[in-house]
Amino acid sequence: MGFNAGKQAAVAGMEKNSLIMKIFSFNRIEIDIAALQDNFYSIQQHVGPHVKIMAVVKSDAYGHGMIQCAKGLYRAGARTFGVAEVWEGVALRRAGLQGEIVILLGGVAESYEEIINYNLTPVVYDLDFVTGLSHVSARKNSTVNVQLKVDVGMGRLGILPNEAESYISLINRLPGISLSGLLSHFPVADEAWALEKTRQQLSLFKNVLASQKEQKKASAVAHIANSAAMIYFPEAHLDMIRPGISLYGYFPDASPARAKTAVPAMELQPVMSFKTRVVQIKELEAGCGISYGHTFITRRKSRIAVLPVGYGDGYQRKLSSRAEVLIRGKRAPVCGRVCMNATMVDITDLPPVETGEEVVLMGRQGDAEISADEIAQWLETISYEVLCLFGSFNERIYLNNDKNIN
Ligand SMILES: *Cc1c(COP(=O)(O)O)cnc(C)c1O
Repeated sequence: MGFNAGKQAAVAGMEKNSLIMKIFSFNRIEIDIAALQDNFYSIQQHVGPHVKIMAVVKSDAYGHGMIQCAKGLYRAGARTFGVAEVWEGVALRRAGLQGEIVILLGGVAESYEEIINYNLTPVVYDLDFVTGLSHVSARKNSTVNVQLKVDVGMGRLGILPNEAESYISLINRLPGISLSGLLSHFPVADEAWALEKTRQQLSLFKNVLASQKEQKKASAVAHIANSAAMIYFPEAHLDMIRPGISLYGYFPDASPARAKTAVPAMELQPVMSFKTRVVQIKELEAGCGISYGHTFITRRKSRIAVLPVGYGDGYQRKLSSRAEVLIRGKRAPVCGRVCMNATMVDITDLPPVETGEEVVLMGRQGDAEISADEIAQWLETISYEVLCLFGSFNERIYLNNDKNIN
């Protein structure tokens, strides 16, 4: 299958998949679009009206659903969106999204036509790509916006600061393309030990901006701040910020306490919840083994609830005898191994529970809450990965998706 055919299949597959995915499963992801919009307002309020926001919706909006989230954010006022690859931008345009769509990973020669036809804005860092895009665009009499990425220490995408001048003058000379932004990215903006490093990287980027002031169009935007820099480095807000995780209701740090001190007024609410139900309850005597490997043996007469969720639904096996879930607003520990489609929890200490009752694996129930940060600790990872994981494995239901329609 050729490159383009593959991409087209992927876009079509995405549309199809969302229809055939686990409808009627016991397990569901709930996405609260009003919470997403509130987070956007909260972030906009924090940075002030003169700083633009690129809403980062890559990786299916961190598992929350790219199209629904981008549209919800558009209704809340977002006009710039960040995705990783060209095909994601194509999927957003085909779903009718307006505004600017920035392709953070840029493109390849096979994607010139799509970039031009779907009015996408690629990040650029490669000479051949820039000249090739210019050639195709000029031939079609169109003008494509591009944004130049400078690497000030991430060691990932981008040209080096000393190459900026030659790249910018080349882009300015070439027909069919226009430089609409300069960007960079921080590697350690969320690390308390690395404040000085982030300041140095910011000043490197600001030097590039200052030296290119004459060459750069006034309308071109400069941006470098992810959620961490938005919180800890107000001087890095520049013309636009690029929040991802904070839109979805989490601070970038594993321990939200530091962020809460830095930005006490910024209220963020988790957007995603993961729910299942109790399918069976059993009373067991002391000394009974539970689940594969009998790694858990009841120490007392126990009530055990069986949940129809497991690693086949993204509820990873590493959560075995580690995680907790919420039932009746109370915590119940996972006992024994998580299976492919089943997990057992100990409800001996809970008030009587009935089959069919709602179980919250992540999210709120009553006054209790299990956050993606807590699950990330059990899984020895970060909230970002937990959200992508749960979101991509399960049917998503959208709540409050009809508000704030412009
Ligand atoms: C993913 C990403 C972001 C968003 O980062 P968060 O930590 O989720 O706010 C911003 N900029 C770039 C280039 C990214 O790849």
